[in-house]
Amino acid sequence: MINIKFPDGTVKKFDKGITPLEIAKGISEGLARNVLAAGVNGKVKDALLPIEEDADLVLYTWKDKEGKSTYWHSSAHLMAEALEELYPGIKFGIGPDIENGFYYDVDFGDYEFTKEDLKKVEKKMIELAKKKQSYTRKEVSKKEALDYFTEKGDEYKIELIQDLKDGEITFYQTGDFVDLCRGPHLPDTKPIKAVKLLNIAGAYWRGDEKRKMMTRIYGITFPQKKELKEYLDLLEEAKKRDHRKLGAELELFMFSDKVGAGLPIWLPNGTLLRKRLEEFLVKEQEEAGYVQVITPHLGKKDLYVTSGHYEKYGQDSFQPIHTPREGEEFLLKPMNCPHHCEIFNHKPHSYKELPIRIAEFGTVYRYEQSGELHGLTRVRGFTQDDAHIFCTPDQLKDEFLAVLELTKKVLSKLGFEKYTAQISLRDPENKEKYIGSDDNWDKAEKAIIDATKEIGLETTTELGEAAFYGPKLDFMVKDALGRSWQLGTIQVDYNLPERFNLEYIGADNQKHRPVMIHRAPFGSMERFVGVLIEHSEGKFPLWLTPEQFKVLPVSDLYLDYANKVLSELKSAGLRGSIDNRTESVGRKIRDTELKKIPYMLIVGEKEVQDNLVSVRKQGEGDIGKMQILEFAEFINKQI
Ligand SMILES: [Zn+2]
Ligand SMILES: [Zn+2]
Repeated sequence: MINIKFPDGTVKKFDKGITPLEIAKGISEGLARNVLAAGVNGKVKDALLPIEEDADLVLYTWKDKEGKSTYWHSSAHLMAEALEELYPGIKFGIGPDIENGFYYDVDFGDYEFTKEDLKKVEKKMIELAKKKQSYTRKEVSKKEALDYFTEKGDEYKIELIQDLKDGEITFYQTGDFVDLCRGPHLPDTKPIKAVKLLNIAGAYWRGDEKRKMMTRIYGITFPQKKELKEYLDLLEEAKKRDHRKLGAELELFMFSDKVGAGLPIWLPNGTLLRKRLEEFLVKEQEEAGYVQVITPHLGKKDLYVTSGHYEKYGQDSFQPIHTPREGEEFLLKPMNCPHHCEIFNHKPHSYKELPIRIAEFGTVYRYEQSGELHGLTRVRGFTQDDAHIFCTPDQLKDEFLAVLELTKKVLSKLGFEKYTAQISLRDPENKEKYIGSDDNWDKAEKAIIDATKEIGLETTTELGEAAFYGPKLDFMVKDALGRSWQLGTIQVDYNLPERFNLEYIGADNQKHRPVMIHRAPFGSMERFVGVLIEHSEGKFPLWLTPEQFKVLPVSDLYLDYANKVLSELKSAGLRGSIDNRTESVGRKIRDTELKKIPYMLIVGEKEVQDNLVSVRKQGEGDIGKMQILEFAEFINKQI
């Protein structure tokens, strides 16, 4: 007999060799139908794999991320099986699950696989899934594995097998399709009820552009048709909110091939938006005791050798800039921290001055691969809402708490109410991997955990995910469509104070090392604005939006009055402009609606006579007439 411990802590005895699926059946048939995979001693396994010794057991269903990833990875096998039936002789690369769904890389030989083919494959997948084929696991020797794929003629699988150790190789078979895979998979294909193949793209074998370009087919599957429909509706909605599309329509930002890929150019509207965000942050940070600095966009290469950033970014990023002077080299800064360490170091400090909080909207440059670039969310030059806090180890918790509070306040002001945090701690089994004393690490980790508890932040904890130089916390923010984005990070650092020899004089009159905290609530202005556009659908809060109103004269006759309205509202502190084109007022309303400007002020003969404006609200229509200053008050009251 073996002891199986369940997540609620209860322990039950079972025969050795029982499978998680059998255990589920013993609990209820309903549960057994829903079990997709099992967690055995912390590892995700097939629900059909016998358990041979005492174990902690979790039964994963669709509700769990482990259940979903097993389900989607198994769907990749099902797609490959369908493809092989429809296009005999094709070869397969890899087929993993991804955040939403799965893909498989396929070499179709001479056949040109297009989007037109997808329907046929979807139909075949449903047909095969209905057969309730099991995912049969078989352990094979390296020789057997190589023989099988040599006979099949799939050089990709052969290459993958060559990297594997003999004795650790498994095949999984569904129907006639055999795949090299370590698993885990579903017990059978029956739970796969709804299929959508979403996209095809080119993908180099093993990501190497010198090698074969394969066809990557993306798909997603669900246990219910209803869930697929909801997902497709969500995709449709996400497309409408795509910040690249809205960014162009609202004239917020652009890219230019001549300037360079991944280097965003902020247009006047986007600049207004960004400036207001920056002003807002500066104000919040000043209240929280930060000082603002400005440092250059580049620094001597040696600076980044000292900081260790050259080692990290040097090879794969922008290369050093040479000057007419022999041997002189500069780097575009990949991080602001080294500059801020130099600021700390420019004069001696007493413990009485700490904490010192240095903030900067610092622009940094990193060479992202061109395939990774994506609108404003993945760029090569971006401005961090950065700050570095230099404090004593004892101040760490209060500082961390204050940063969390600031971040929370800032996110809520921008309409993000749902977020969680991931705390990355060191691996307690491998303490020697990390720099800084045991005592400091314990203190820092406890400080982070206590601070998140105190503020009531929902967290997940990852052991072993900390950087070698300190624990950190990442904010995961949910947008209006329920998608998660990683935004701000708070990172404790024991490394840079060492590297830059930072010191303060303590109450004991001795020299001490300060602790450094890196923090950026938004992450970067670019990424944050990208996410904000998608979250708000480009309908920014009134206090932030580049233009709060547009004056729409019914004809050119009323331009003078329109100008008077504009100038009075500007004097009252509002932001707006006039649509002075010779267009019908209907056309002007439609265009202003598309620009998502919150209010339209229509002025014609009647309005001029009574010294009024007719107010329309974006998306809602006419809300009545107001006096000019009455409208200003109406707006200011909402901010
Ligand atoms: Zn697999
Ligand atoms: Zn930093």
